[in-house]
Amino acid sequence: MSNTLEGKAVLVTGASSGIGRATALALSKSGARVAVGARRADRLKALTEDASGEMLLLELDVTDRQSVDDAVAATVEHFGALDVLVNNAGVMLSSPILGADTTEWTRMVETNLLGSMYMVHAALPHLLEAKGSVVQVSSTSGRVASATSGVYAATKFGINAFSEALRQEVTAQGVRVVLIEPGFVATELTTHITDPAIQAAAKSMAESMRTLQPEDIAAAVVYAVTQPEHVAVNEILIRPTDQT
Ligand code: NDP
Repeated sequence: MSNTLEGKAVLVTGASSGIGRATALALSKSGARVAVGARRADRLKALTEDASGEMLLLELDVTDRQSVDDAVAATVEHFGALDVLVNNAGVMLSSPILGADTTEWTRMVETNLLGSMYMVHAALPHLLEAKGSVVQVSSTSGRVASATSGVYAATKFGINAFSEALRQEVTAQGVRVVLIEPGFVATELTTHITDPAIQAAAKSMAESMRTLQPEDIAAAVVYAVTQPEHVAVNEILIRPTDQT
Protein backbone atom coordinates (compact mmCIF):
# COMPACT_ATOMS: atom_id res chain seq x y z
CA MET A 1 0.00 0.00 0.00
CA SER A 2 1.39 3.39 -0.87
CA ASN A 3 1.98 6.08 1.68
CA THR A 4 -0.60 8.78 0.95
CA LEU A 5 0.21 12.47 0.99
CA GLU A 6 -3.31 13.35 2.15
CA GLY A 7 -3.00 15.99 4.88
CA LYS A 8 0.79 15.71 5.08
CA ALA A 9 2.73 18.91 5.79
CA VAL A 10 5.39 19.65 3.19
CA LEU A 11 7.89 22.50 2.80
CA VAL A 12 9.32 23.19 -0.67
CA THR A 13 12.23 25.62 -1.04
CA GLY A 14 12.81 27.46 -4.31
CA ALA A 15 9.10 27.18 -5.08
CA SER A 16 8.81 30.45 -6.99
CA SER A 17 9.80 28.89 -10.33
CA GLY A 18 10.87 25.78 -12.22
CA ILE A 19 11.16 22.44 -10.44
CA GLY A 20 10.16 23.80 -7.02
CA ARG A 21 6.98 25.37 -8.36
CA ALA A 22 5.95 22.25 -10.28
CA THR A 23 6.73 20.04 -7.28
CA ALA A 24 4.70 22.23 -4.92
CA LEU A 25 1.72 22.03 -7.28
CA ALA A 26 2.05 18.24 -7.73
CA LEU A 27 2.28 17.65 -3.97
CA SER A 28 -0.69 19.93 -3.40
CA LYS A 29 -2.69 18.04 -6.04
CA SER A 30 -1.82 14.81 -4.21
CA GLY A 31 -3.45 16.15 -1.05
CA ALA A 32 -0.49 17.60 0.85
CA ARG A 33 -0.58 20.91 2.67
CA VAL A 34 2.37 22.77 1.18
CA ALA A 35 4.51 25.61 2.54
CA VAL A 36 6.26 27.33 -0.36
CA GLY A 37 9.46 29.27 0.22
CA ALA A 38 11.59 31.59 -1.93
CA ARG A 39 12.67 35.23 -2.05
CA ARG A 40 10.19 36.43 -4.73
CA ALA A 41 6.92 36.73 -2.81
CA ASP A 42 4.97 37.94 -5.87
CA ARG A 43 5.74 34.66 -7.66
CA LEU A 44 4.76 32.66 -4.59
CA LYS A 45 1.48 34.54 -4.36
CA ALA A 46 0.65 33.60 -7.96
CA LEU A 47 1.54 29.98 -7.14
CA THR A 48 -0.74 29.82 -4.11
CA GLU A 49 -3.56 31.13 -6.32
CA ASP A 50 -2.95 28.32 -8.87
CA ALA A 51 -2.86 25.56 -6.25
CA SER A 52 -5.77 23.20 -5.66
CA GLY A 53 -5.14 22.86 -1.92
CA GLU A 54 -3.99 24.95 1.00
CA MET A 55 -0.57 26.59 0.65
CA LEU A 56 1.43 28.66 3.11
CA LEU A 57 3.55 31.43 1.58
CA LEU A 58 6.98 31.89 3.16
CA GLU A 59 9.45 34.59 2.22
CA LEU A 60 12.66 32.64 2.53
CA ASP A 61 16.33 33.25 1.82
CA VAL A 62 18.13 29.96 2.40
CA THR A 63 21.48 31.74 2.77
CA ASP A 64 20.17 33.44 5.92
CA ARG A 65 20.03 31.04 8.89
CA GLN A 66 17.44 33.09 10.73
CA SER A 67 15.20 33.11 7.66
CA VAL A 68 15.56 29.31 7.41
CA ASP A 69 14.75 28.77 11.09
CA ASP A 70 11.77 31.13 10.83
CA ALA A 71 10.40 29.35 7.73
CA VAL A 72 10.55 25.93 9.37
CA ALA A 73 9.02 27.28 12.59
CA ALA A 74 6.20 28.99 10.67
CA THR A 75 5.44 25.76 8.77
CA VAL A 76 5.26 23.68 11.94
CA GLU A 77 3.21 26.31 13.70
CA HIS A 78 0.74 26.55 10.80
CA PHE A 79 0.41 22.85 9.94
CA GLY A 80 1.27 21.31 13.33
CA ALA A 81 4.03 19.13 11.84
CA LEU A 82 6.57 18.81 9.07
CA ASP A 83 6.43 15.51 7.16
CA VAL A 84 8.43 16.26 4.02
CA LEU A 85 11.14 18.79 3.19
CA VAL A 86 11.88 19.33 -0.50
CA ASN A 87 15.28 21.01 -0.41
CA ASN A 88 15.34 22.45 -3.91
CA ALA A 89 16.50 26.11 -3.93
CA GLY A 90 19.59 26.57 -6.06
CA VAL A 91 21.52 28.72 -8.51
CA MET A 92 23.85 27.76 -11.36
CA LEU A 93 26.31 30.48 -12.35
CA SER A 94 28.53 28.51 -14.70
CA SER A 95 31.88 29.88 -15.85
CA PRO A 96 35.46 28.77 -16.39
CA ILE A 97 37.57 28.75 -13.23
CA LEU A 98 40.22 31.05 -14.70
CA GLY A 99 39.18 34.66 -14.14
CA ALA A 100 35.84 33.72 -12.57
CA ASP A 101 33.89 36.27 -10.54
CA THR A 102 34.36 34.61 -7.15
CA THR A 103 31.30 36.36 -5.72
CA GLU A 104 29.34 33.93 -7.94
CA TRP A 105 31.19 31.03 -6.27
CA THR A 106 30.18 32.40 -2.89
CA ARG A 107 26.55 32.67 -4.00
CA MET A 108 26.47 29.08 -5.26
CA VAL A 109 28.11 27.63 -2.15
CA GLU A 110 25.95 29.71 0.20
CA THR A 111 22.72 28.87 -1.62
CA ASN A 112 23.11 25.34 -2.97
CA LEU A 113 25.26 23.81 -0.27
CA LEU A 114 25.17 25.78 2.96
CA GLY A 115 21.54 26.86 2.45
CA SER A 116 20.50 23.28 1.83
CA MET A 117 22.38 22.17 4.98
CA TYR A 118 20.73 24.92 7.06
CA MET A 119 17.33 23.68 5.88
CA VAL A 120 18.10 20.13 7.00
CA HIS A 121 19.45 21.41 10.33
CA ALA A 122 16.26 23.33 11.06
CA ALA A 123 13.85 20.68 9.74
CA LEU A 124 15.43 17.51 11.13
CA PRO A 125 13.94 17.50 14.66
CA HIS A 126 10.46 17.77 13.10
CA LEU A 127 11.18 15.15 10.42
CA LEU A 128 12.35 12.78 13.15
CA GLU A 129 9.16 13.38 15.07
CA ALA A 130 7.04 12.72 11.97
CA LYS A 131 9.25 9.89 10.61
CA GLY A 132 9.23 12.02 7.49
CA SER A 133 11.28 12.41 4.33
CA VAL A 134 13.82 14.86 3.02
CA VAL A 135 14.17 15.26 -0.73
CA GLN A 136 17.53 16.68 -1.71
CA VAL A 137 17.56 18.20 -5.20
CA SER A 138 21.05 17.57 -6.53
CA SER A 139 21.95 17.15 -10.22
CA THR A 140 23.75 14.98 -12.73
CA SER A 141 26.50 17.48 -11.82
CA GLY A 142 26.51 15.80 -8.41
CA ARG A 143 27.86 12.70 -10.11
CA VAL A 144 30.00 14.00 -12.96
CA ALA A 145 31.73 17.39 -13.14
CA SER A 146 32.43 19.07 -16.46
CA ALA A 147 34.30 22.13 -17.72
CA THR A 148 32.64 25.42 -16.63
CA SER A 149 30.57 23.66 -13.96
CA GLY A 150 33.36 23.29 -11.38
CA VAL A 151 31.85 25.18 -8.47
CA TYR A 152 28.24 24.24 -9.25
CA ALA A 153 29.30 20.57 -9.42
CA ALA A 154 31.26 20.97 -6.18
CA THR A 155 28.07 22.13 -4.45
CA LYS A 156 26.08 19.21 -5.87
CA PHE A 157 28.79 16.65 -5.02
CA GLY A 158 28.64 18.21 -1.56
CA ILE A 159 24.88 17.70 -1.37
CA ASN A 160 25.33 14.05 -2.34
CA ALA A 161 27.95 13.53 0.38
CA PHE A 162 25.88 15.31 3.02
CA SER A 163 22.77 13.33 2.03
CA GLU A 164 24.51 9.97 2.38
CA ALA A 165 25.84 10.90 5.83
CA LEU A 166 22.37 12.12 6.80
CA ARG A 167 20.81 8.89 5.52
CA GLN A 168 23.12 6.80 7.68
CA GLU A 169 22.34 8.95 10.73
CA VAL A 170 18.54 8.92 10.50
CA THR A 171 17.30 5.95 8.48
CA ALA A 172 17.06 3.68 11.55
CA GLN A 173 14.77 6.31 13.09
CA GLY A 174 12.42 6.14 10.11
CA VAL A 175 13.46 9.30 8.25
CA ARG A 176 13.99 8.68 4.54
CA VAL A 177 16.52 10.66 2.50
CA VAL A 178 15.87 10.94 -1.23
CA LEU A 179 18.47 12.31 -3.63
CA ILE A 180 17.10 13.56 -6.96
CA GLU A 181 19.63 14.11 -9.75
CA PRO A 182 18.05 15.77 -12.79
CA GLY A 183 19.70 16.28 -16.15
CA PHE A 184 18.70 19.24 -18.32
CA VAL A 185 15.31 20.65 -17.25
CA ALA A 186 13.67 23.61 -19.01
CA THR A 187 13.58 26.28 -16.27
CA GLU A 188 15.01 29.74 -15.59
CA LEU A 189 18.16 28.23 -14.10
CA THR A 190 20.48 29.02 -17.02
CA THR A 191 19.13 32.56 -17.49
CA HIS A 192 21.13 33.73 -14.46
CA ILE A 193 24.47 32.73 -16.02
CA THR A 194 26.45 35.94 -16.55
CA ASP A 195 29.09 34.63 -18.99
CA PRO A 196 27.57 35.28 -22.47
CA ALA A 197 29.40 32.34 -24.12
CA ILE A 198 28.21 29.87 -21.47
CA GLN A 199 24.72 31.35 -21.58
CA ALA A 200 24.65 30.83 -25.39
CA ALA A 201 26.00 27.27 -25.02
CA ALA A 202 23.24 26.44 -22.53
CA LYS A 203 20.63 27.84 -24.93
CA SER A 204 21.89 25.81 -27.86
CA MET A 205 22.07 22.69 -25.67
CA ALA A 206 18.41 23.19 -24.76
CA GLU A 207 17.51 23.61 -28.42
CA SER A 208 19.36 20.43 -29.38
CA MET A 209 17.15 18.08 -27.34
CA ARG A 210 13.76 17.37 -25.88
CA THR A 211 14.57 18.66 -22.41
CA LEU A 212 12.90 17.46 -19.26
CA GLN A 213 10.04 19.60 -17.98
CA PRO A 214 9.74 20.65 -14.31
CA GLU A 215 6.69 18.37 -14.05
CA ASP A 216 8.86 15.33 -14.90
CA ILE A 217 10.94 15.96 -11.78
CA ALA A 218 7.83 16.73 -9.72
CA ALA A 219 6.47 13.29 -10.67
CA ALA A 220 9.70 11.66 -9.47
CA VAL A 221 9.41 13.48 -6.14
CA VAL A 222 5.78 12.40 -5.70
CA TYR A 223 6.78 8.79 -6.51
CA ALA A 224 9.61 8.84 -3.97
CA VAL A 225 7.56 10.23 -1.09
CA THR A 226 4.52 8.01 -1.58
CA GLN A 227 6.25 4.65 -1.15
CA PRO A 228 5.32 2.40 1.77
CA GLU A 229 7.24 3.17 4.98
CA HIS A 230 9.64 0.25 4.59
CA VAL A 231 10.72 1.44 1.12
CA ALA A 232 13.40 4.14 0.95
CA VAL A 233 13.97 5.50 -2.54
CA ASN A 234 17.48 6.81 -1.92
CA GLU A 235 18.46 8.12 -5.34
CA ILE A 236 16.80 9.00 -8.65
CA LEU A 237 18.96 9.97 -11.63
CA ILE A 238 16.72 11.30 -14.38
CA ARG A 239 17.99 12.63 -17.71
CA PRO A 240 16.30 13.65 -20.94
CA THR A 241 16.41 10.66 -23.29
CA ASP A 242 18.27 12.87 -25.78
CA GLN A 243 20.99 13.93 -23.28
CA THR A 244 24.21 11.94 -23.64
P1 NDP B 1 14.91 28.00 -11.21
O1 NDP B 1 15.90 29.10 -11.43
O2 NDP B 1 13.66 28.00 -12.01
O3 NDP B 1 14.53 27.89 -9.67
C1 NDP B 1 15.43 28.13 -8.65
C2 NDP B 1 14.65 28.42 -7.39
O4 NDP B 1 15.57 28.61 -6.31
C3 NDP B 1 13.81 29.68 -7.50
O5 NDP B 1 12.54 29.42 -6.96
C4 NDP B 1 14.55 30.68 -6.64
O6 NDP B 1 13.63 31.57 -6.03
C5 NDP B 1 15.17 29.77 -5.60
N1 NDP B 1 16.29 30.39 -4.92
C6 NDP B 1 17.47 30.83 -5.43
N2 NDP B 1 18.21 31.41 -4.46
C7 NDP B 1 17.48 31.32 -3.32
C8 NDP B 1 17.70 31.73 -1.97
N3 NDP B 1 18.82 32.36 -1.61
N4 NDP B 1 16.75 31.47 -1.06
C9 NDP B 1 15.60 30.85 -1.41
N5 NDP B 1 15.34 30.43 -2.66
C10 NDP B 1 16.27 30.67 -3.59
O7 NDP B 1 15.75 26.65 -11.47
P2 NDP B 1 15.36 25.11 -11.34
O8 NDP B 1 13.96 24.91 -11.03
O9 NDP B 1 15.95 24.47 -12.52
O10 NDP B 1 16.29 24.71 -10.10
C11 NDP B 1 15.81 24.08 -8.93
C12 NDP B 1 16.88 23.13 -8.43
O11 NDP B 1 17.09 22.10 -9.41
C13 NDP B 1 18.25 23.78 -8.20
O12 NDP B 1 18.81 23.27 -7.02
C14 NDP B 1 19.05 23.30 -9.40
O13 NDP B 1 20.44 23.25 -9.14
C15 NDP B 1 18.46 21.93 -9.63
N6 NDP B 1 18.69 21.36 -10.95
C16 NDP B 1 18.20 21.97 -12.08
C17 NDP B 1 18.45 21.44 -13.33
C18 NDP B 1 17.99 22.08 -14.60
O14 NDP B 1 18.42 21.66 -15.69
N7 NDP B 1 17.12 23.08 -14.57
C19 NDP B 1 19.23 20.19 -13.48
C20 NDP B 1 19.68 19.64 -12.23
C21 NDP B 1 19.40 20.20 -11.02
P3 NDP B 1 13.87 33.13 -5.71
O15 NDP B 1 14.79 33.68 -6.76
O16 NDP B 1 12.48 33.69 -5.77
O17 NDP B 1 14.44 33.16 -4.33
